[in-house]
Amino acid sequence: MEINLISDTVTKPTEGMLKAMMTTNVGDDVFKGDPTVNLLQEKVADMFGMEDALFFPSGTMANQTAIKLHTQPGDKLFCDKWAHVYNYEGGGAAFNAGVSCKLIDGDRGMFTAEQLQYAAEGRSDIHVPYSRLVCVENTTNKGGGACWDFSELEEIKKVADTFNLSYHLDGARLFNALVAKGETPKQYGALFDTISICLSKGLGAPIGSVLVGSKEHIAKALRIRKLFGGAMRQVGYLAAAGIYALDHHIERLEEDHQKAKEIGAILEKANYVKRVEPIETNIIIFYVTNDLNPADFIDTMKDKGILLTPMGEGKIRIVTHLDYTDKMHKTLLKELQAYQMLKF
Ligand SMILES: *Cc1c(COP(=O)(O)O)cnc(C)c1O
Repeated sequence: MEINLISDTVTKPTEGMLKAMMTTNVGDDVFKGDPTVNLLQEKVADMFGMEDALFFPSGTMANQTAIKLHTQPGDKLFCDKWAHVYNYEGGGAAFNAGVSCKLIDGDRGMFTAEQLQYAAEGRSDIHVPYSRLVCVENTTNKGGGACWDFSELEEIKKVADTFNLSYHLDGARLFNALVAKGETPKQYGALFDTISICLSKGLGAPIGSVLVGSKEHIAKALRIRKLFGGAMRQVGYLAAAGIYALDHHIERLEEDHQKAKEIGAILEKANYVKRVEPIETNIIIFYVTNDLNPADFIDTMKDKGILLTPMGEGKIRIVTHLDYTDKMHKTLLKELQAYQMLKF
């Protein structure tokens, strides 16, 4: 039995999801003729109380499209120094939109309204790039699944308004935050200009992201998606997986969070662990003690069929997900405890 905890993207479609995919109606989405894609887009727009939505093959393309539609070449955007849009999208902000990123030195991927104010104010003469956009990420990926305080996001909106900045949310794991904090998509829809969500992370679809926004923004996004090569044909088969995921896999995220907390509780007490980052959702980041090489720990676990991710600086990451069963969970907890015996 392989226990793959490297990411929540490793899941495979469930039987129910596959059935939904195989039995759906499709058409040519480039001509807006795919009824399942249209249904998914309407569904997500409705959920967030926003005017329109657009289906994308990846979260990266949805974010890159958002950055492109809010900016002109030479502009700058503000984001945390750990932001996915800066660190993990291949330099796309520079390549696709020709913009630079002003990085804010936040905490676990989150910054404050005051920090944004400080970063945005000051000179605005010809030496300085136009400030055009703020991007935030909820939950934070590199920050270990941390959730923003909604009130801070509201404060950031006020600062964004004073500087005339658009406000984009990278919500690849937004549903984890909503479930953990008891928040609603509509609260977020009311605050942001554009939001990207991933169907292929905790929600368990094999592929797909959605960008939501105003009619005007989504009309621009449609052109940009074409330009990026992301206009697809009978893609309703994949949209059907997304609809199924939204109908069946949101509330169950709570189970992933619960398992993550139980893993954290074992690690907190383990003699080979120096520190566990606060666990708010489905991501666990922990530091092993100085005398233990993280690679050795990861190799020992790999020999037992347990796959974890090294994060550098003595950090290791575990991500729980839909395909991580109760049985796997029992085995993992046992092995994490047993490792302690190995050490002494
Ligand atoms: C996964 C992820 C994305 C985009 O992912 P794709 O792999 O391109 O679908 C964007 N932002 C964050 C925070 C992510 O975790």
